[in-house]
Amino acid sequence: MPVPKRKTSKSRRDMRQSTKFIRPQAVMTCSQCNEPNLPHQVCVECGYYKGRKILNTKNDRGMQRMQTRTAAAQRAQKAAEKNSQHEGHDHTHHEGDDHSHE
Ligand SMILES: [Zn+2]
Repeated sequence: MPVPKRKTSKSRRDMRQSTKFIRPQAVMTCSQCNEPNLPHQVCVECGYYKGRKILNTKNDRGMQRMQTRTAAAQRAQKAAEKNSQHEGHDHTHHEGDDHSHE
């Protein structure tokens, strides 16, 4: 009867056991964007958890930055238009309007 020549050392035994209890990571798909994500965690792609918006994602931040930038540009444009109007039109007319409100 064949028998192992040497006893399996603790090191060899434990190295063999090291992969014994590893389980595959559970993966679910997001109900909002159908991207794979971890269960019981906020979706990294869209920032939703249980149908509610929790996180601002990288894309959202980019969008917000764009919106604020465009809003600022529009404000600047309007201000420039107002300034040009003030220069172009009669200034006393606007001042008279202001006094009637008071
Ligand atoms: Zn998602």
